[in-house]
Amino acid sequence: MKNLSAVLLLSSLVFTIAPTSASEISSDIDQDYQQHLAPLWDHFHRNPELSLMEHKTAKRLAKEIESVGFKVTQGIGGTGIVAIMKNGAGPMVMVRADMDGLPVVELSGLANASKAKMIDWDGNDVGVMHACGHDVHITSLVGTARYMAANKDKWSGTLMLIGQPAEERGPGASAMMKDNIWKKFGKPDYALALHVDADSIAGKVTVDEGSPYAGADTVDIIVHGIGAHGAYPHQGKDPIVIGAQIVTNLQTIISRELSPRDAGVITVGAFHSGTKHNIISEQARLQLTVRSLNPRVREQLLSAIKRIAIGTAKTAGVPDDKLPEVIVSAEAYPPTFNDKNLAQRLKRILTTQMGADALIPPSESGMGAEDFGFFTTAPYIPSVYFSVGGTPKADFERAQAGGPAVASHHSPQFKISPEPAVKSGVEATVHALIDLMPKK
Ligand SMILES: [Zn+2]
Ligand SMILES: [Zn+2]
Repeated sequence: MKNLSAVLLLSSLVFTIAPTSASEISSDIDQDYQQHLAPLWDHFHRNPELSLMEHKTAKRLAKEIESVGFKVTQGIGGTGIVAIMKNGAGPMVMVRADMDGLPVVELSGLANASKAKMIDWDGNDVGVMHACGHDVHITSLVGTARYMAANKDKWSGTLMLIGQPAEERGPGASAMMKDNIWKKFGKPDYALALHVDADSIAGKVTVDEGSPYAGADTVDIIVHGIGAHGAYPHQGKDPIVIGAQIVTNLQTIISRELSPRDAGVITVGAFHSGTKHNIISEQARLQLTVRSLNPRVREQLLSAIKRIAIGTAKTAGVPDDKLPEVIVSAEAYPPTFNDKNLAQRLKRILTTQMGADALIPPSESGMGAEDFGFFTTAPYIPSVYFSVGGTPKADFERAQAGGPAVASHHSPQFKISPEPAVKSGVEATVHALIDLMPKK
């Protein structure tokens, strides 16, 4: 009897001093997923909206977050929302979720596949699908809001949740910044965001200590020629030949000019010129995407593109008043940098709380871009953008055995396992927030 009461005393003591055990958080989130978040994901998945048109999504998201006690402001930078919960002294931490779907007809085979249609930005009637998994992000944001609101005794500070429009088309984050959100709501001390990842195992978390996303520039090169009859080429300057040489010469920037230890991409995605077989045209237009991971490389690539475009035309004998125009769009995306110290801190806390096998290393996955950097680059805010796996392990094994390939983001077959993805997304975010905003 004595021993049993000692055990009871000990276990009640343990319960009192460790009320936020990881397993307790995990089971609370699991319960909330079954009761609330699963049907919510189902709703968002069936009802995607295009970039800049996320009106119903934003309204529902706002309602969900408001209902647990956040002060929500809608219509920021278009359809964006900012939700604030003040909970005593401490840092302000921002968590961002993007809300938009894509103009894709869903062919995932899911029971709740989207049948949504919308008129797109050019007036076309298109199918709409959450083909990048942003439905997972907004559902996770609601899960985080609900957990943090129900557990205010476990943290101290100000939590800022952001529902961001138009990640897929670009202007979302910058539009919210142009709306002066830091002035209106306060500038966060830290920022977090997550993306679900079809290329990694469902529920596994990846924290990159470098740049999970590249910066992206859009460049137009207008090559001016001198028009002539196709049978009299010596009387003109052929912009198609000059443009083709520019395309070829641009290939040497990455291969011969950039340090092999730096990363960069220059892709000429479009080349338009000419009207007819026997006419040497007046102009060729090249459209480029340029990717880099830091400002130094970005500057190097952009200036080399300009030098090569102009130099190639000069070599062809194009007169000085007809040299190519190289136009770098003002709508550049900064790279998404993770703050190294914060990333290491997050890895430590997630390993402690969720177990070492909850984390997997980042894969070398190209130079995709994101607009989250608009929030965190100028002024600098230490931030971590992490990812959560979305594809069941069995699907990868089937693909490896010669079965159907795992569909990529933006594909009509794109399919995420919402339960492990949302639960891990909420769990990782909650652990990070409790660590960043400890109870005073
Ligand atoms: Zn996407
Ligand atoms: Zn996305």
